[in-house]
Amino acid sequence: MTAPDSGPGPHASATILTVDLAAIAANYRSLRARLQGAACAGVVKADGYGLGAVRIAPALAAAGCRDFFVAHLGEGLAIRRGLAAGEAIYVLNGVLAGEDAEFAARDLIPVLNDLAQVEAWTAAARQHGRRLPAVLHIDTGMSRLGLAPADAQRLAADPHRLDGIDLRYVMSHLACSEESDNPKNPAQLRLFAAERARWPAAKASFANSSGIFLGHDYHFDLVRPGCALYGINPTPDRPNPVAQTAALHARILQVREIDPPETVGYGATHRVTTRTRIATVAAGYADGWLRTLSNRGCAYYGDIRVPIVGRVSMDLITLDVTAAPAARTGETVELMGPHLPVDAVAELANTIGYEVLTRLGDRFHRVYTNGAAAA
Ligand SMILES: *Cc1c(COP(=O)(O)O)cnc(C)c1O
Repeated sequence: MTAPDSGPGPHASATILTVDLAAIAANYRSLRARLQGAACAGVVKADGYGLGAVRIAPALAAAGCRDFFVAHLGEGLAIRRGLAAGEAIYVLNGVLAGEDAEFAARDLIPVLNDLAQVEAWTAAARQHGRRLPAVLHIDTGMSRLGLAPADAQRLAADPHRLDGIDLRYVMSHLACSEESDNPKNPAQLRLFAAERARWPAAKASFANSSGIFLGHDYHFDLVRPGCALYGINPTPDRPNPVAQTAALHARILQVREIDPPETVGYGATHRVTTRTRIATVAAGYADGWLRTLSNRGCAYYGDIRVPIVGRVSMDLITLDVTAAPAARTGETVELMGPHLPVDAVAELANTIGYEVLTRLGDRFHRVYTNGAAAA
């Protein structure tokens, strides 16, 4: 079943990003099935890891998700309309100066990351004349956002500083959770257990996708998976427990044969050594198809692997399709999909699946399916 689409429209030249909402919902349910009593949120920041938060958040809600995490106020506003009033939206970057009225009016819940944000949110509660919900973030080893333990201690010593705040969760974030035997994981766990004990009335949230797989000690009351919802392997040293959710198919614009000593692309970085069929395909780094895939990445024509030769350019890539003599202008090749899971593309691009997905551009025609992936 194909839902209404987004993007530049299904022109013949369009590269097509297919997002399987049913696969995302199934991944959500499979993660939740690993919990014993903890609730399972959905992290849909960065536009649902590049795949479309406005479509994904309601699909997760239909699968039973009641808690959604985004990074920015704007991302929270974007998904608010598609969710029911009881479905909580938490904003990880917190409430910045001048934003408190919009947070309160649109029922968005800030993650408070320092004492200044705590102060601003209690002031907002006084001004609005009602208790306002919040999450308190304690840093246990990222040195990124969150209260330093010394600030957490100061706050706990003077509970009036939280007057007017309905403290829903105390949370923290793991630095090395995808490395199951990294000693930093149990060290952060001990620190978090001690910190959250300062606020015994609040629930606790600790694990991201990979943290779920570290065991029940890491689950607390609410887990916060992102990458695993979208098909990125949360256990990189073991087989992927989640399903792929996105596929990218690009159109062949031209096929030609060249002979030595001809070269391909900018910088002449690929020189053919024998008669070679080159297919030029409509996807480039302006679409998020990373330039590090130059002379390293590949695509599939049917079941035939065809390497990227030459540099990835702004709008185009060039494939050696000598092994696929049937390849013709107007046909499509798979850049990501059944033969090329997101993590395989990431490895070829020398990055992580998170970056591959979040770079996917607006120039693709997007098709949302529920089940069978569109061709
Ligand atoms: C992005 C993020 C998550 C989700 O992490 P994944 O590794 O994608 O599961 C969870 N919590 C916080 C604080 C985050 O920033």
